[in-house]
Amino acid sequence: MAAYAESTDDIRDLYRELILDHAKSPRNFGRLDVSTHTAEGVNPLCGDKLKLYLHVTNDRIDDVSFEGSGCAISLASASMMTDIVRGLTTPRAREYFDAVRANLTSDMKDAPNIDLGKLRALDGVREFPTRIKCATLAWHALDSALRGRSSPVSTE
Ligand code: ZN
Repeated sequence: MAAYAESTDDIRDLYRELILDHAKSPRNFGRLDVSTHTAEGVNPLCGDKLKLYLHVTNDRIDDVSFEGSGCAISLASASMMTDIVRGLTTPRAREYFDAVRANLTSDMKDAPNIDLGKLRALDGVREFPTRIKCATLAWHALDSALRGRSSPVSTE
């Protein structure tokens, strides 16, 4: 892992087109009128904050949204996460959480074998340890919401 500060070029490499697109126009942004699970997440290191809303029926996530503010990576990650988990069963959503976390932290022990598809766009954050927390924040919020924790999650 390089110890150098992020330069403009590094950021440019990191922010692929897909990430910028999701950050500029986050999908599923706003609050759900009716939710069964919610969780808040904060990443104090970067200032990212989000609140996640899930509507779960018979163990299936039939609706999901988020609101919050933060850097492009945290917003893009939350946007992509909500796109992917809508319609999944909660065990399947958890498998995605495990796979994304394993992929981004490069700790593949016990990682489910899932094709992450467009989520691979976030792979660039691996080289920037502080950014990994931006990319995993929404996923930690998902995990927390599914566990029914009421206290906010923090990446710290
Ligand atoms: Zn961030």
